[in-house]
Amino acid sequence: MEPIDRHALRRALLDSQPWLAATDAGPRAVSAGLCDRCDEEPRLLPTCGPAAFQALCRRCAEEVGDEGWCEGHRAQGRAARQWAARLPDRWADAVVLWWVSTGELRVDTVGLPDPEGFSPGVRVALGASA
Ligand SMILES: [Zn+2]
Ligand SMILES: [Zn+2]
Repeated sequence: MEPIDRHALRRALLDSQPWLAATDAGPRAVSAGLCDRCDEEPRLLPTCGPAAFQALCRRCAEEVGDEGWCEGHRAQGRAARQWAARLPDRWADAVVLWWVSTGELRVDTVGLPDPEGFSPGVRVALGASA
């Protein structure tokens, strides 16, 4: 497989999945890695509440609910969960690809999500045929 063009990947991800540009939620708002609660899905939302997690995946954020945010940030937590609910089905793969594009995750440690279903620009950057 061709080496990944990380800059092209980031551009193509931003073009096709503009939600990745968010800085208060999403992969730019949390440190790269798996959810603090389930350890299965990527982190997506930063949290600060009594539940003592730092970042949760979409499902866990929904299940933890208001407990994930301190009193002062409850409204932001709700807005973040609503934002997350509207993301595409493959948000988790997009998040992993984002971190690959920024160099926060290395392909040889995470493995690459299936490029199928992503935009032609993303597939080309990953070395797959458009
Ligand atoms: Zn989780
Ligand atoms: Zn807070």
